[in-house]
Amino acid sequence: MPVWFSPGRVNLIGEHTDYNGGRVLPIAMDLGTTFQVDLIRDASLRICSQRYDEQVVLPLEGPYRARGHWQDYFAGVLHALAAAPSTGLSITVSSNLPQGGGLSSSASLTMGFAMLLNEAWELGKSRLELAHVAQRAENELVGVDCGILDPFAVAMGRSGQAIALDCRSFRWHYVEFPEGHEVVVINSLVKRELTDSEYNTRRQECARAVELINHERSIQCLGDLAAMDLDTISSLNGNPVALRRARHVVEENARVDRAVSALQSGDMGAFGEELLASHASLARDYQVSCAELDFLVETASGQPGVCGAKMTGGGFGGCVVAVARTDAVAPLVEELGARYDSRFGIQAHFHSCRPGDGVKRLQ
Ligand code: ADP
Ligand code: MG
Repeated sequence: MPVWFSPGRVNLIGEHTDYNGGRVLPIAMDLGTTFQVDLIRDASLRICSQRYDEQVVLPLEGPYRARGHWQDYFAGVLHALAAAPSTGLSITVSSNLPQGGGLSSSASLTMGFAMLLNEAWELGKSRLELAHVAQRAENELVGVDCGILDPFAVAMGRSGQAIALDCRSFRWHYVEFPEGHEVVVINSLVKRELTDSEYNTRRQECARAVELINHERSIQCLGDLAAMDLDTISSLNGNPVALRRARHVVEENARVDRAVSALQSGDMGAFGEELLASHASLARDYQVSCAELDFLVETASGQPGVCGAKMTGGGFGGCVVAVARTDAVAPLVEELGARYDSRFGIQAHFHSCRPGDGVKRLQ
């Protein structure tokens, strides 16, 4: 009986840049989704989610439709894969990722499912092709306009390495994450309804900025601009919101480049500075932070042995990512947990890890 593990991901820096043709620096985590797979005789897929204590049955052949149910993520993969199925499968899914917490439980699910189908049905697709399948599953069937960042990180993760990806060209490379340091994910446990609507608004605002810039330059996405270009573009002057969004994106891309160089030279102080600058820009120019995230970032970054911290994911709640020396993690968890609790009355969840592998078959 094959067992597959598909990780969650956390983005270290390059926030809200993936859908703007920009650059990102995620890692795969050690938390994730596990799939136990059995071949069955009938021509169907029986999928049991232990989280929901519920089983669904999907036909091997489409068309597949959205039902507003977790099965849509599986139906979405089948739809995007449009494969010739060779056998029925019974799949039991369990997960230790928070849902909607910014660690991409959805891409962990879709990418893991795509990979196990690829093997069971001998489809011969590459990990990159399957990452596009996982993205299309959410875009076309679930109805989430997500970018390539999440499935790519889940597909390509590698132990001890961060992934530097240019979402425009798909050029990418691994960057060694220095020994003696850990990535600490701090779940604020704040969930706000506006996360989805504001995400869509930000996408529209960025599209508007591209439209305005095209009065003077010919670009396809904000990722085409260098940070210094912005000062020379006057068509954004009458639209302060578009200018702020564009500024975040172009400066964030430059921060990713500097953060990659800092990691490569093992300069964790410089790396941490880029994380803090990224958070400031997300709060000030992109306006997707909130009081709880700002508090966690500010308090974490003042602790000994912490290189830097920032919000990660869509914003308005969800998670903060901090990078700290291994020996500084336990005191950070204790001190930050106590201060956050006394300020907001919430016991944040902490999880510390080093970069892990992408989707893999365990047995
Ligand atoms: P995120 O990807 O940030 O965790 P999303 O809203 O994109 O949040 O995806 C969460 C959705 O993915 C859940 O509402 C559920 O439909 C689906 N999902 C995630 N994990 C599981 C699971 N173990 N079993 C069934 N559905 C899951
Ligand atoms: Mg998701």
